Amino acid sequence: MNIKILGAHALESRRTNFVSVLVDNILALDAGGLTQKLSLQEQERIKAVLLTHSHADHIEGLAGLAMHAFLSNITVEVYAITDTITALTTHVFNSVIHPDFTRMPSPDKPSLRFHTIKPNKAQSIDDYSVFALPVRHSVPSVGYQITDQEGKSILYSGDTGPGLPSCWESISPSLLIMDCAVSDRWISEAPRLGHMTPGLLKPELVKFRQGKGYLPPVVLIHMVPMLGEEKEIAKEAAQIAQELNTTIELGYEGMEINI
Ligand SMILES: [Zn+2]
Ligand SMILES: [Zn+2]
Repeated sequence: MNIKILGAHALESRRTNFVSVLVDNILALDAGGLTQKLSLQEQERIKAVLLTHSHADHIEGLAGLAMHAFLSNITVEVYAITDTITALTTHVFNSVIHPDFTRMPSPDKPSLRFHTIKPNKAQSIDDYSVFALPVRHSVPSVGYQITDQEGKSILYSGDTGPGLPSCWESISPSLLIMDCAVSDRWISEAPRLGHMTPGLLKPELVKFRQGKGYLPPVVLIHMVPMLGEEKEIAKEAAQIAQELNTTIELGYEGMEINI
């Protein structure tokens, strides 16, 4: 399984993009920086987009992808929980902010087709088994475990605060891509905002190891790229990696991992 981090940050700039992860060039997890980092040809290869929640930094690329699909007469298949789909159809693709691509060019063959994902239930999408796990954020949100036909799997948390132990029971990924928006300077505020810091992530990883008997490598994502936060996160994450005797890396735009 090939994983490319297209966007790893909570702000956009020349260097940074909103969160988006591409699996095997065909499955997109969130659509933050999705279109900025791909050629038009690469965009056409995407078979499905899985959204974790409705926040703008996770859906931003969807409108461009839908316009591209409209002009190419193809359909973008988008998977999300009901709350996310309702938010997008009501507030984004509502003929005010963006055209209603779910009915254009025709309701039978739209540029954008939404499919409902049910949490805590394995579902086949293309050649993958997808398992959506409810996580703790300020709006209804899920993370995704993606498993390919060879049994290789990753977990992408989307945006989440601490309190994930129930998630771990149902999954066995060989890579964790986890929210870590800010450093431990924000350890008191982060749970209320529905985000992790390294110090909040540590007990989650300990619980994972206790429950599963192993701990896969961890890639952190969704960092705030200012106020020296990334340097702090890197320092704190290195300390935790040492304590847990595991690998924790900060994700970055263009990072590629093969598992
Ligand atoms: Zn969010
Ligand atoms: Zn976010």
